[in-house]
Amino acid sequence: MNRLILALCLCGLLLPGCATQPWPQPDSHCRSGGVLLDAHFDGGNLGKCTPLQDGAFRLTLFPEDAPPINRSTWYAFRVSGRAGDEVAIRMEHEHGYARYWPKVSRDGQTWERLGEDQVSRPEEKEWMEIRLSLDGYRLWVAGQEIIGERFYDEWLAELAAHEEVTARLLGKSVEGRPIYLAETAERPEFVLFIGRQHPAEVTGVFGMRTFTDTVFGDTELARAFRERFQLGVVPLVNPDGVAGGHWRHNVNGVDVNRDWGPFTQPESGAVMRWVEQQEARGGSLRLMLDFHSTWEDLFYTQPVSENPPDYASVWLGAAAVRLPGFPFKHAANPVSEQPNAKNYFYTSRGIPAITYEVGDETARDAVRAAAVVFAEEMMRTLLETPRP
Ligand SMILES: [Zn+2]
Repeated sequence: MNRLILALCLCGLLLPGCATQPWPQPDSHCRSGGVLLDAHFDGGNLGKCTPLQDGAFRLTLFPEDAPPINRSTWYAFRVSGRAGDEVAIRMEHEHGYARYWPKVSRDGQTWERLGEDQVSRPEEKEWMEIRLSLDGYRLWVAGQEIIGERFYDEWLAELAAHEEVTARLLGKSVEGRPIYLAETAERPEFVLFIGRQHPAEVTGVFGMRTFTDTVFGDTELARAFRERFQLGVVPLVNPDGVAGGHWRHNVNGVDVNRDWGPFTQPESGAVMRWVEQQEARGGSLRLMLDFHSTWEDLFYTQPVSENPPDYASVWLGAAAVRLPGFPFKHAANPVSEQPNAKNYFYTSRGIPAITYEVGDETARDAVRAAAVVFAEEMMRTLLETPRP
């Protein structure tokens, strides 16, 4: 959808291109009998909530982009009621489908998958019903773990405590939320890791944190890597999207990972300014990694033939040998016109620019264990490349 149509859609005008937009403003809470659903927290999204006659709820959830980009929807809410209350919540996905298996939490911090016997979801995933037995205490329900400001504050503080790292404000989002950078001292060559362009993709966050921590680790390999390469890490590119409970968009309704090249949004612009500052002092960007989540574990890279000697094949091949129990794919797709970070950095800089995709339902421990190996082999492989 082009920007003019999007703007008209957001103004409420009915145009053919508005089939899935504008998405209605989500409800903040909803009550039926003694049971309250609310989304009064960062990351919350109830969609449109309708209490039904039998005490159940219907949530109508909306994907943010028209097909075929992505029709999955995000949801996160809390359920409060009396001990012994049984509540059924049916989620319907307008133009979309139920991608995320529900997770529940007592405190919003520790999460577990909802039991199979409490969830109904047909093969085509056009709706999903969950059944909860309340015990008098508030229950959090979400498509994935809710990873917000607190997680990033802790992570940034941890990175900043490292003697080689400066953590600083890189820029501001549309709504003025800080976008932070953790960087090391200038070197002739530098690498860039970015994360959370897409708010719902939290398994990518788990992978990115362990991956980054491994690169900042106190090992001979990591020290040699940091000696040669400057690191720039932007863990949270889209803080408004995360706070607002968005699926892919920032608060302007733009997919930030379709803004590399146009740079119409402050989030992508902030990252780009840092890259250009390094280049202005003579630095050479050697690798860009962008962390996401999808249905399975895979890496989107450039075609092998277009990037000889193919960095990604060497890196991922070495990792695969060490990860026999962790199946993942190397998707070396043709470069398209799509203005995502991967295409932008490859096309404009001729470097390996790779989307690191973590499976939505991959066991979190396995994601972290694999990230250590991916980080080690990334460093080893890049250290073997000749200096420019
Ligand atoms: Zn994504």
